[in-house]
Amino acid sequence: MNKRWTISKIKEFVEKNSDTKLLTTEYHGFSQKLLFKCSCGNNFEKTFTKFKNNNQRKCEVCQPPKLSR
Ligand SMILES: [Zn+2]
Repeated sequence: MNKRWTISKIKEFVEKNSDTKLLTTEYHGFSQKLLFKCSCGNNFEKTFTKFKNNNQRKCEVCQPPKLSR
């Protein structure tokens, strides 16, 4: 599980797997929040881990956070 992500690999992943664009140009680690631009035009921040593993690939308007009950 030591896969190294670089900003260009992340950008590629984002563009292949979503309609979202990556605005951040430097990657410093998995805990960093990256800035994305949703296909609706909203910008949003999320860690890449959440984006990739939790399928949070849109802004909160297009994909509201799940309410826990
Ligand atoms: Zn959106």
